Amino acid sequence: MTLSCTGIGIGTSRGIAIGQAHLLQRGRRLELMPRYIDREEVPDEVDRFRQAVSEARRQLRSAQKKIPASTPSDIVAFIDTHLLMLNDAALVEVPINRIREQSCSAEWALQIQRNELAQVFDAMEDPYLRTRKDDVDHVVNRIQQRLLQLDENEQEELEGKIIVAQDLTPADAILMRHRGITAFITEYGGPMSHTAILARSLGIPAVVGVRHATHCLRHGEQLIVDGEQGVVLAAVDDDTLSYYRSRIEAARLQTAELRRLIGQPAATRDGRTIRLMANIELPEDIESTRSLGADGVGLYRTEYLYMNRSTPPDEEEHYRAYLEVVQGLDGIPVTIRTLDLGVDKQIDGAYARDEQVCNPALGLRAIRLCLKEPRLFLPQLRAILRVAAAGPVRIMIPMLSTLQEVYQLKELIEQTKASLARDGLPFDPMIQIGGMIEVPAAALSADAFARELDFLSIGTNDLIQYTLAIDRIDDEVNYLYDPLHPSVLRLIQMVIDAGRRQKIPVSMCGEMAGDPHYIPLLLGMGLTELSMQPGALLEAKRTLRGLNADGLIRQVGELMPSIDDPESTDRLSWLIRTSLEPAP
Ligand code: PEP
Ligand code: MG
Repeated sequence: MTLSCTGIGIGTSRGIAIGQAHLLQRGRRLELMPRYIDREEVPDEVDRFRQAVSEARRQLRSAQKKIPASTPSDIVAFIDTHLLMLNDAALVEVPINRIREQSCSAEWALQIQRNELAQVFDAMEDPYLRTRKDDVDHVVNRIQQRLLQLDENEQEELEGKIIVAQDLTPADAILMRHRGITAFITEYGGPMSHTAILARSLGIPAVVGVRHATHCLRHGEQLIVDGEQGVVLAAVDDDTLSYYRSRIEAARLQTAELRRLIGQPAATRDGRTIRLMANIELPEDIESTRSLGADGVGLYRTEYLYMNRSTPPDEEEHYRAYLEVVQGLDGIPVTIRTLDLGVDKQIDGAYARDEQVCNPALGLRAIRLCLKEPRLFLPQLRAILRVAAAGPVRIMIPMLSTLQEVYQLKELIEQTKASLARDGLPFDPMIQIGGMIEVPAAALSADAFARELDFLSIGTNDLIQYTLAIDRIDDEVNYLYDPLHPSVLRLIQMVIDAGRRQKIPVSMCGEMAGDPHYIPLLLGMGLTELSMQPGALLEAKRTLRGLNADGLIRQVGELMPSIDDPESTDRLSWLIRTSLEPAP
């Protein structure tokens, strides 16, 4: 068998897909140069521009028609906004006048207008209005792609296709999943980027960080994507194809086998019960969470509500979205995480990141932003408190770093309760408030946080990023991303121990919790609650049902004090490997 290895990247979402490549030009940054034309070419150039605008309109209208009914309303709304902008004189008539008056090419006339509008938006005080610049860029980009004829592929059927792109936003990933894609490959991004996490929850294989993929792969050619190994193959021979087809079949059989665990207890061989919870994000996750028998939702990410729109959601919109989840889960407890905006989780309308921010991961994100922008936060808080009257709901705060934030937050929650009482709206006055431990400072002070909060959840995706000072979405430093780094393990252990001392539950909701390789270690460290994307629940259950918790607790307990010694690291790897070996 000859393997024709086309690209190696970082496998971020397991599974294998075989399908046709669909090269995505959208999102590619265009580097335009000034170009001027002869006077007699002006009328044709104006026609060319008008035609590109009509084609852009036609594309958006057809996208609008193809959006499935289940698509979140915010994603639909951004297409409406862009259609309106394509009728705006500022983006249509002004560039035409410039072509006529200055004899510039259509692309360049539009580019000058884009730059002038960008300056106007940048100067605006209001952060909501400032974000309209992104919409202008999206629309300008769409027209320019047409002018340069870069997007012939846009209208094609996507069913069964493998997307190849420089990068994908979470919104692109959702939209294209609805259009039936089977996998995606990007040139940039790391396994912990939000788009990669989303790929896992959408259940499609993905490989990120495949350098030059959009140049090396051809539109329409057959590809194989191995999301586990991070391998992309093109121009494969029949033997290779049948090898991968057999792996797809084996995976299908394995899934059927795993499904037999639904309804079986999530307990270790020595009888310790582990709470297996789901990380959810989109309404479509409700069904899998329920049908796979999750014990709860340990993390409900709410950022999608804010994505691709020009104004933040109001209280009713929050309330309706949460109610759909709570009612859909029918008594399964739900942990709603408040807005965790930042870095790879940009939102278009609710808050525009200042271009000057060099280290957004260390900037005004998550709870920091929420405390600073009550307009964003209060409608969400009110809605969470209200929905908690309709079912078992807890509230969870991301990225805490100081106790001051907890005090401020509690004060805000009390004020919100008072305002709901004044308005005569039902709410849960006893709602449990938990915090995510994702910043080393919070892990080091975990006892203090545990005294103030009802529960803690360890967000390893960020905790690892901040402990090791590596950008979780930067593929260049990805090789340093190590959940088993002794410093990371010490911090995790501190949080678990603090929870035990202060008698509050501690769970883990970072990606580490859903990886079967780490489950023996986590159990050995004393964790009894794990939250993961729904697709990982059954494999986690199978893993822990083969483990002996008491033995692991003893062995890990002996290793932890000297975890820095190379010998301990070796013993840890050995422990993990042997625990995972099937029992004789
Ligand atoms: C984490 O940081 O581990 C986490 C679960 O949050 P997110 O991935 O949404 O930042
Ligand atoms: Mg996080």
